[in-house]
Amino acid sequence: MLGPPGAGKGTQSERLALSHGLPKISTGDILREAVQSRTELGCIARASMEAGNLVSDEVMIGIVRSRLSREDAQRGFVLDGFPRTVIQATALDRMMDGRGPLIVLDIVVPADVLVRRLAMRRICSKCGTNGPVDWPANCQKCGGRLIARADDSVAVVKERLKVYQRQTKPLVEYYSARGTFRAIDGNRPPDVVAAAVREALSEAVAARGAGL
Ligand code: ADP
Repeated sequence: MLGPPGAGKGTQSERLALSHGLPKISTGDILREAVQSRTELGCIARASMEAGNLVSDEVMIGIVRSRLSREDAQRGFVLDGFPRTVIQATALDRMMDGRGPLIVLDIVVPADVLVRRLAMRRICSKCGTNGPVDWPANCQKCGGRLIARADDSVAVVKERLKVYQRQTKPLVEYYSARGTFRAIDGNRPPDVVAAAVREALSEAVAARGAGL
């Protein structure tokens, strides 16, 4: 699933993964966990994430390749936050050799809405789940305290949106000629977007069946 920061990729990927019984693979979650547990990967990723920059393609491609080789990803998976550059997308195409079709859904949301959403966003300090919009409350999954994400401050958000325009937006062109690409209006309530995601997914699967 593609889209700018705050588009709702995480929320929609989670719902899609749950409803299809597939693992959701979020590179942002993998990196945040690594930062929190101070692993070597966490040390490498931390500065880039806090500045709103991308972690290197080499590191990210390695993470995703090893995650996709695990048993639970053999029947399919939902990717959230990867690929984010054309180099990552090219590597993902190679990883998909001999697997099912790669369906790409792009969640589209205007920039002013994104800035507002990110300023409001709260995540659980324990498990990283997105908090309810009516915080202050506690995490619905584990009861943990809700906090702002370190990279959701106004200055870092601006940088992340710039990085998105420069490095990730070109992916729309990379994928858009494929029959398995669909753009979805993400500036609607989560349930409406989720229904559009389901529809786009069946269309893309059908287009693939028709050899488009
Ligand atoms: P968002 O989509 O809201 O920016 P994510 O949780 O997907 O948030 O990512 C948070 C940060 O993790 C990014 O700003 C970036 O620093 C890093 N990151 C996540 N995925 C990738 C990736 N595929 N390539 C490079 N950096 C990544």
